[in-house]
Amino acid sequence: MTVTYEKVVYSFEDLCEDKKLLGNKGANLVTMVKMGLPVPPGFAVSVDAWKEYKRTGQLPEQAIEDALSRLERRMGRKLGDGLAVSVRSSAAVSMPGMMDTVLDVRDNSTMMDSIRKVFDSWETPRAIEYRRLNNISAEMGLASIVQAMVFGNRDELSGTGVLFTRNPSTGERGLFGEWLQGALGEELVSGRRTPQPLDEMKKMLPDAYRQLEEVARTLEQHFKDMQDIEFTVDSGKLYVLQTRNGKRSGQAAVKIAVDMAKEDILSQEDAILRMTPDDLRSIIYPHIHMPERYQPLTRGLNASPGAATGIVVFYPEEAAIRAKKNEDTILVRPETSPDDIQGIAAAKGVLTSRGGLTSHAAIVTRAMGKPSVIGASQLEIDLKKEQFSVNNVVVKKGDIITVDGDTGYVYTGALPLIETEATAEFNTIMSWCDDLRWIGVMGNADTAEAVTQVRRFGGDGIGLCRTERQFNTPEALAAIREFILGETREELDKVLQRLRELQKEDFVAIFKALQGMPAVIRLLDLPLHEFLPRDSKDSRVRERIMRLMEVNPMMGHRGVRLAITNPEIYKMQIDAILEAKREVEANISLMVPQVITLQELLWVRRIAEGSGLKVGMMMETVRACMRAGPLARAADFFSFGTNDLTQAVFSFSREDAEKKFLTTYFDKGILQDNPFQVLDVKGVGRLMETAIHWARQEKPNLVISVCGEHAGDPRSIEVFYRMDIDYVSCSPFRIPVAKLVAAQASIKDKREHKARLKTLTQQEVKC
Ligand code: PEP
Ligand code: MG
Repeated sequence: MTVTYEKVVYSFEDLCEDKKLLGNKGANLVTMVKMGLPVPPGFAVSVDAWKEYKRTGQLPEQAIEDALSRLERRMGRKLGDGLAVSVRSSAAVSMPGMMDTVLDVRDNSTMMDSIRKVFDSWETPRAIEYRRLNNISAEMGLASIVQAMVFGNRDELSGTGVLFTRNPSTGERGLFGEWLQGALGEELVSGRRTPQPLDEMKKMLPDAYRQLEEVARTLEQHFKDMQDIEFTVDSGKLYVLQTRNGKRSGQAAVKIAVDMAKEDILSQEDAILRMTPDDLRSIIYPHIHMPERYQPLTRGLNASPGAATGIVVFYPEEAAIRAKKNEDTILVRPETSPDDIQGIAAAKGVLTSRGGLTSHAAIVTRAMGKPSVIGASQLEIDLKKEQFSVNNVVVKKGDIITVDGDTGYVYTGALPLIETEATAEFNTIMSWCDDLRWIGVMGNADTAEAVTQVRRFGGDGIGLCRTERQFNTPEALAAIREFILGETREELDKVLQRLRELQKEDFVAIFKALQGMPAVIRLLDLPLHEFLPRDSKDSRVRERIMRLMEVNPMMGHRGVRLAITNPEIYKMQIDAILEAKREVEANISLMVPQVITLQELLWVRRIAEGSGLKVGMMMETVRACMRAGPLARAADFFSFGTNDLTQAVFSFSREDAEKKFLTTYFDKGILQDNPFQVLDVKGVGRLMETAIHWARQEKPNLVISVCGEHAGDPRSIEVFYRMDIDYVSCSPFRIPVAKLVAAQASIKDKREHKARLKTLTQQEVKC
């Protein structure tokens, strides 16, 4: 391409399609000119000119004058004498409605002022805020597009319209848009006049409509995406003013991608690459309709996605009772514990004032697919009065609130929610992802219901079944407490027998739900403090609690350490698994948590001897990573517990860091991402890579997975893929997104590999 005009001002006929120079709108206009579509002539004052203007305050006036003369010659009319121009903004990333537009400019000096006005609008507070919210760099800048005006208000054969080439809510094929007879585009956009459906234009101007259909088809084929087109009809003649890829709902995104692949516009791979995690999330979870219209009450961490509306309750029992009466509730607690599990299950959503993204409430709600806002620290909860106050607003039991687990915002009142059903196209995309992904996607599930959810979302199996979560029923909780508090051998044996029976029942239910899927059952990783009654009046119990109290229970008597001091616990669990397996055949492996040394692993292997079950281990301590080689020799598989590993690498408590200081770290730019949410590639990631390298040196085929919260995070999954992880295991509701990202990673990898091979071959030919 040769640019024949001024360096900083490009006439459309220069055919420069560089988005960095002309912005999105400008580059697309040039593309349309190139395709021979009816576009009013014009020129772009480029991003380079904006840079210079920003630096010096000067516009390239001579270049603009020249471009204008050229436009006048082309139109055969002078500015102000039969010719008017519009001046619009054009950034490389679309920022709808953020920047200024000046219409109907009829003299030279106003046409300079207008360009200044458009350039200056880059720095308005709303544009700055939009860029901040959408992560758009201020350096990107904008071009200004000067274009001959066409008039949709000239006569009754004129009008203006906006259309999508497919329905942006549902994705259905066919033009979808609005038309306003005898009006300028601004009247349509501003909403001053009520437009008519596009079909009205078809009746009034059938020829222009047919031409518009053809333009829409051509543009879709060219850009290989659904287009959002602005057009004007001036005395019966159609002009296209703008085209861009159209914004769409998640459901529409899935349908459009699948349909376009079936119509041979896109390959299956490109259809998958086109999808975003948000597209899928918006189908799986309910969302607030237009949240920007509402003023939030407060904000916490967006711990589990989706939105929920319900009556505020403060006690889990009340949530359970109201659920039986079909009443939707939001359970509000300072924090949650295993005691609250029935209430969490019964509530529509959860709000806490304490805790972080890997706290009990966060993990449990994510696993249940229930929206939650965690650690809303401004909330002052008064459990006795059953009310909370925040920013001088008091919310009482029975009031209605809405929690938005997508953003962490909490609102008073019932906000309108949108729920979408998984469509046939959603299932199609998922099956294409299954065919194309190279790593497995399993689910974390502790109950038969959760196992069913994993099957529903198409997981390859259960990568982590946390058995301590099975002690959440009142009966099992009582038994485990008795065990923790028990003193004599006789007391312990009796309660162990009861626990074995309860565990067996749980396993039978889980094995039935598996229906052939494999499952990894993790032996108890019991942080004792989580299971003790906090408010017991019994002095014997209180004294025992005091004795068991640990200053740092997360680094305390938990995981495999319990098996060293009390081997009978793991023995009881293994017996329960084997008994359950005798009733329902299932493909089960055992996993040992918190291992630091080979001796611990061998100790558990001895307990499991004769069971015929594979024994793998969690990689969640730094020492285990450092001893990955010898441990690999003794383990049947590894699964990285990135929650505990992150805690250990950072020396940040996963229970406390978020509520104490992490937000300040983000505000001050010390950390960019929450390491409990997005894998810390440079620290935890490098440790994992080293461990994987040493492990695979010892045992090349060792199966290695990740089952911490990061296993469901899109950015982290891409990193795990590159680490040669065999599978990730995440909460059931995150499985579709994990599958999408896994497939995208495989496709990108394949393409990079092909590109490398091509370069190599070319080098060989040159040699
Ligand atoms: C982990 O530590 O990453 C893990 C999966 O175990 P838990 O969250 O149960 O400690
Ligand atoms: Mg752990």
